[in-house]
Amino acid sequence: MSIDAVIAALPFSPIPEGESYCEVTPLAQIITPSSSATALYRAPTFSFYVKHEPSGKTLFFDLGIRYDWETGFAEDLRNFIKPAPPVMVGDVGALLKEGGANPEDVSGVIISHRHWDHTGNIAPFPKAEVVGGIDTFNADLGRQTAGRQTLVLDWSRVKSSKIGSFDHAYDYFGDGSIWLCDSAGHTAGHLSALVRTTPSPNATYVLLSGDTCHHPFLISPTTHNFRLATYPARGGSDNPRKHPGLPPPCCMHSDMERAWDTVCRTRRMEAEDNVMVVLGHDYVYWREWRDNLNRLWPNKAGIHGWKKDGLKMERKYEPEKYDIQ
Ligand SMILES: [Zn+2]
Repeated sequence: MSIDAVIAALPFSPIPEGESYCEVTPLAQIITPSSSATALYRAPTFSFYVKHEPSGKTLFFDLGIRYDWETGFAEDLRNFIKPAPPVMVGDVGALLKEGGANPEDVSGVIISHRHWDHTGNIAPFPKAEVVGGIDTFNADLGRQTAGRQTLVLDWSRVKSSKIGSFDHAYDYFGDGSIWLCDSAGHTAGHLSALVRTTPSPNATYVLLSGDTCHHPFLISPTTHNFRLATYPARGGSDNPRKHPGLPPPCCMHSDMERAWDTVCRTRRMEAEDNVMVVLGHDYVYWREWRDNLNRLWPNKAGIHGWKKDGLKMERKYEPEKYDIQ
């Protein structure tokens, strides 16, 4: 059976309709894999500013890279980042203020997963509850959240629902406007957020998918047979059968099997007409939005009108346009 047929056969639970919805506006910081400012390949690190319409409450999904990473991170992490330093737009809290919103009013910070390019800096948001999956607070975020109100989504403990192609989803506001979905694989506690962006009837949604995958064409039907990639471990072998004593190839996902399962579930969501998937480093959309800045904070158009405005892209794979050069 083809991958497309496997994905089409995944169980799908209807997404509940409802009146409440959220506005979603991306903020982008830029990360490059090269220290050269002229490198052709650049991917964004998105944070998403979300405004819950019925209550006016605001929150973030992911905080990107902390602006002060050169002093704010521990030495080993700084040394890891230094060879390909990110090009930063600004501190998320300061950017929010520049756009006329008060960081102190932010009531929640939802973090997709534990990695340094998503956990950011929570200090500008003193009143925010910090939300993450089971292992999200084990790294830098754990140090930052000492004494703060946190919500850890452990699927064996919280009440969850089957929503769309996801087996576990948590209704964050209790009104179906934000479902935090179990999208483990990249890390054990990885979360995606399914946000209702326009109300019923015919509600629309964005699925903020963090690091479910990094190559955006992994979630698109394509003639190319994309798979998650492995690479040789330091001092290891590409061929564990030939060199059983050496470290096997590794992958940027902590559980490759689960990561692929999550990619398939995410791709199933993308197949819905009323769902638009946006990845944490989605350079397909970054290429569009960097030239159309009213979608990006501090401009306010956001992406909640994506259906009406025709923002969802076909994700047609064009190697010369999208691959690293
Ligand atoms: Zn990332």
